[in-house]
Amino acid sequence: MGQILYTSTRDNRIRVSASQAILQGLSAEGGLFVPVELPQIALDWNTLKNASYQEIASLVLSAYFTDFTPEEIDLCVSAAYDAKFSHDQIAPLVKIKDKVLALELFHGPTIAFKDMALTILPHLVKTAARKQNCDQDIVILTATSGDTGKAALAGFADVPGTKIMVLYPKGGVSEIQERQMVTQLGDNVRVIAIEGNFDDAQTAVKEIFNDDQLKSQLEKLGQQFSSANSINIGRLMPQVAYYIWTYAQLIQQGELQAGQAFDVTVPTGNFGNILAAYYAKQLGTPIRTLVCASNRNNVLVDFFKQGKYDRNRPFYLTSSPSMDILVSSNLERLVYELVNKDSDVLAKMMQSLSDQGVYQLDRQQMNGLDSFYANQASEDQVAQTIRTVFEQDQYLLDPHTAVAYFVAEDYRQKVQSDLPMVVVSTASPYKFPRSVMGALEDIQGQSDFQLVDRLHQVSGLSIPTAVTTILDAPILHKSTVAKAQIKDEVLDFVASKTK
Ligand SMILES: *Cc1c(COP(=O)(O)O)cnc(C)c1O
Repeated sequence: MGQILYTSTRDNRIRVSASQAILQGLSAEGGLFVPVELPQIALDWNTLKNASYQEIASLVLSAYFTDFTPEEIDLCVSAAYDAKFSHDQIAPLVKIKDKVLALELFHGPTIAFKDMALTILPHLVKTAARKQNCDQDIVILTATSGDTGKAALAGFADVPGTKIMVLYPKGGVSEIQERQMVTQLGDNVRVIAIEGNFDDAQTAVKEIFNDDQLKSQLEKLGQQFSSANSINIGRLMPQVAYYIWTYAQLIQQGELQAGQAFDVTVPTGNFGNILAAYYAKQLGTPIRTLVCASNRNNVLVDFFKQGKYDRNRPFYLTSSPSMDILVSSNLERLVYELVNKDSDVLAKMMQSLSDQGVYQLDRQQMNGLDSFYANQASEDQVAQTIRTVFEQDQYLLDPHTAVAYFVAEDYRQKVQSDLPMVVVSTASPYKFPRSVMGALEDIQGQSDFQLVDRLHQVSGLSIPTAVTTILDAPILHKSTVAKAQIKDEVLDFVASKTK
């Protein structure tokens, strides 16, 4: 099979191998790495329907990361998708009602879908470093809207040759999410809250990545930055696997026959998850419509409807914090396809996004959006969805999945669909007990931790160890910094010794 090389969305002359792209995270001029050609995978559904999650993950990653040996891929896959997951299928496809199924991506160590990629990323980074003869320490710097932070910390804690620093928006994450992060153990970890929202955190990280002075300082210390955000192909490509797995499971469960199509709805923030579905479709997975679900932060809904991306709008904190985003980084990879992989055109659009907060597609470019549908759910609609689905189908949705469920139903009605609809279920309801229980009953005066018990009584779902272990764990990370201090904090961290 041919080698798959990666180029940058903003400079098409660049060619790097998969392992270089994984180590670097982001291309030097600020673009994102994308495969130069579409990898070829033989998708034999009659075989795949009996394959394990791990087998499918190995198949997909071998096709994208061609400079890794099959043995290296298998080692990464088996180290990631093991008993850390509380379900032996890793990502079970569960029927909610006729024609509607949930792809449960929350059975990993931090009970959100970020585990699907962040359990494997550290292994991919370590393997890539070895392949590139890189003897520098890798400094992972990550902005989080709540779930990436903990999943990345859990993945990289005490991994030799790495350090990890996580920035989260103070007040912008749930009590459980914050507690998960600030109790993180490990000699190579630091967690800071910033005064600002997720976009501020993400912008700060991007600026630091592109700060040449900082980079050379880092080099002197024998370190280099990498990213655990979903802009890294080491995070994005593992996510393609679960869409191929989903189709194999639909066949296995008798929901459809090989060749028949299905729809998928993805609760969307940074656009990584749904982009992975788009890539799976490109590889030949029969997905009809990619339904993009947003909360009140509906910049993507407007984009899909009008072809105009406009971040100049109010930012809202919602019950689905991991989707509270105004700039969806991975959308750049889709737009790159829409402009026929013309990196000059794309670079101009991204410049306009950073200068004016806006870019606009023309008519022809918009044709590329045909397989997408987008809509949004309000906070009331989310609460009502959690309540009705629990009452009618005894299935308890977390608020992110509820956004998706609401938009999935809206789509199914609009097109009078009778294809199977897969709702991507991105978090356990235990991660957001306040919003979930608040949708079901009066919760006045109760803490998140009391609500966890109540959720257990009401649903009968067992409480995940991810929650029980943080209940009385000591708080280890206490600092909150202003935006202007972020760079100093990073400098302090890179200069600090890990044991
Ligand atoms: C990160 C996250 C999302 C958004 O996923 P993107 O890949 O950023 O679009 C949705 N739900 C949950 C629970 C998440 O953690």
